[in-house]
Amino acid sequence: MTVTTQGPSTTRGPDLPFTLCFHGVGVPTHEREPGEAGYWVGRDQLLEILDWVAQSPQVALSFDDGNRSDVDVVLPALVERGVLATFFPVVDRIGDAWSTSVSGLEELLAAGMDVGTHGLTHRPWAGLRGEEAREEILAPRHALEDLLGRRVDRAAAPLGRYDRHTLALLRSGGCAEVNVSDQRPARPGAWLQPRFSVRADDTAASLQARLLASTAPARRVRNAAASLVKRLR
Ligand SMILES: [Zn+2]
Repeated sequence: MTVTTQGPSTTRGPDLPFTLCFHGVGVPTHEREPGEAGYWVGRDQLLEILDWVAQSPQVALSFDDGNRSDVDVVLPALVERGVLATFFPVVDRIGDAWSTSVSGLEELLAAGMDVGTHGLTHRPWAGLRGEEAREEILAPRHALEDLLGRRVDRAAAPLGRYDRHTLALLRSGGCAEVNVSDQRPARPGAWLQPRFSVRADDTAASLQARLLASTAPARRVRNAAASLVKRLR
């Protein structure tokens, strides 16, 4: 796989078939999910991966959870490389001691980044129904719109867990794109977008190998089947 085409963009096209999903950068001082540290990367590790991504317009970037490192570490590194990304903060955490503030999110937007919702409290969306589902999934999107004074039409499912009821709710609520964690190539223009979660031991080389492996026919069928099972649940 040769990953070279044109300039950086968050707009998907045939030349942009993969999306990476990062979490925090640095050392997690306050782990909020069991095993969260397994998805944090060091600063040098981030920079090495971004150097590769900057040369690989087929790879789009997203950062989940709204950690402080989004603005403190990631933003300057993206700006330096002329690379764009989408950030998905957990709405209830905005402005707390470990998370990005509203002004931090405004800085991201001012630099050309996009901001979407990652739910109210990071509770997995699979299995949520009725008022609980609306509070956790739909309300935070509108809260984010009020905070930022702009339309927010992209979402990322916490822990990549969703089901067909969740998706129906997002669709009826007018959400334009839902990002999940199924490790498959992105589908240009599709409403449901798979992503690859970057792990604590990943490097540019290991990620490139993972992206390439996902395009193998057998793997593609297996991953598509797993995704279908989730949607039917
Ligand atoms: Zn998350």
